[in-house]
Amino acid sequence: MATERQYREHIVRYGRMLHERGFVAATDGNLSVRLSANRILSTPTCMSKGEMRPSDLVVVDMEGRLISGKRKVSSEIGMHLLIYRLRSDIKGIVHAHPPTATGFAAAGVPLNQPLVCEVVIGLGSIPLAKYGTPGTTELTEALEPLVPGFDAILMSNHGVVAYGADLEQAYMKMETVEHFARIALVTHQLGHQKPLGAAELEKLVVVRAKYMNGGQPEAQGQASGNGHGRKKAAAEPQPVDASRATGLGRRTIR
Ligand SMILES: [Zn+2]
Repeated sequence: MATERQYREHIVRYGRMLHERGFVAATDGNLSVRLSANRILSTPTCMSKGEMRPSDLVVVDMEGRLISGKRKVSSEIGMHLLIYRLRSDIKGIVHAHPPTATGFAAAGVPLNQPLVCEVVIGLGSIPLAKYGTPGTTELTEALEPLVPGFDAILMSNHGVVAYGADLEQAYMKMETVEHFARIALVTHQLGHQKPLGAAELEKLVVVRAKYMNGGQPEAQGQASGNGHGRKKAAAEPQPVDASRATGLGRRTIR
């Protein structure tokens, strides 16, 4: 368990990495960490994510009210609070506008084709949420149905949000989404996609279950959630719908 000081340094570090990799421009994006049940440490509004100091961050409660900090709370805090409310396992959130993944979001194209085995293992697939005006309940309502089942979401005509058991995992998922978007774009440019087939996906579902359980085989009876768990997938008639199979949410292997 890190100290608040260390969490502040994590946010500054990953904010700088978002900026260095061109995942945000100007003052775009936001990052947060859950410090405790009712305290969220977050980036403030109107600051470059490449220029922050630990003292620039703000602490808010689960209603988004400022508890401490000299700067103003981000208008996107509602999106972070929604995810923390719906997912007790989440401790870190990253929101950014990486250009290729955001291009898919602006084209209305989800990243749900099983084109790369390690993306299937790590994320399943990346769905596309409906458009919602930033800083309003429209946006949180668009995300709400997808948050329980996925760890990274494309936000239509906006960007990407990714989240994990800590900020590092959330950040890594953001990198994976953008990297995968670049690969998917190349397949579009080549004019040909060859998604993994049902047999390969079934094997990856097993690997994913082990990966998500920290290397332990999945316990019996845990394949539930979105209904695309290991046992279900194995029992599904051939051919398995590839996009559904990779749409397996994290709940299936919990
Ligand atoms: Zn944004």
